[in-house]
Amino acid sequence: MFSKDYSFLEEVHTCPHCQKKMECCDAPQFHVGDGLGWGSDVLFICLNDDCPLFVKGWDRIEQQYGHSASYRYMELPGSKESNLMMVGNEMAFKGSIVDPEALKKQNVRYQKEIEATKALDSCLENNDLGPVMTLILDEGADKVQRKKAIQLLLQLNNLKCIDPIRNHSFKDSSIEQEVNMVISQLLQNNFSKECPFCCEIIKSQANKCMHCKTDL
Ligand SMILES: [Zn+2]
Ligand SMILES: [Zn+2]
Repeated sequence: MFSKDYSFLEEVHTCPHCQKKMECCDAPQFHVGDGLGWGSDVLFICLNDDCPLFVKGWDRIEQQYGHSASYRYMELPGSKESNLMMVGNEMAFKGSIVDPEALKKQNVRYQKEIEATKALDSCLENNDLGPVMTLILDEGADKVQRKKAIQLLLQLNNLKCIDPIRNHSFKDSSIEQEVNMVISQLLQNNFSKECPFCCEIIKSQANKCMHCKTDL
């Protein structure tokens, strides 16, 4: 939904018309003027109803175009360039103000994904399950990297991966399928299986589960 550059979270934009702090809003998908995107997922917009630009805009547009609309002052992230957005009513954009705290949380998630993706290439030599698990269990992570991580489970050959995976609910069924296949293979490679009663990992030859003592 959002671009993966969150540097705009640190930006403060002030409207030059009213000196009020501008709101960070989701960008509409298309630039109404020329049919192109804004090149940004968010826009900073002055939503102050007393902003002189907005107050005077109604008359100006009425006279110029003969319809009822006004302007909101807008700046793109990383830019102080002046832009005007035409709006038909006071409420426009007020429903699309983004919550910076929610975005910061997404940003934390994204930074973890980046680190784990970078560590993926060296996880075999470091015998490190960490980055592989981070990606597999991160529903927001890149699907290609998640699938790569799933395949690495076999080479890492560490049965500790099974518990957290079993406790996770996957949103993507193709990821879930691959994970299940790899886990079966991993268990087979280790002459192990999951007890059908308590789900603990036991020897594939076992007749009785050593954890729940059920006869198999
Ligand atoms: Zn303003
Ligand atoms: Zn058992």
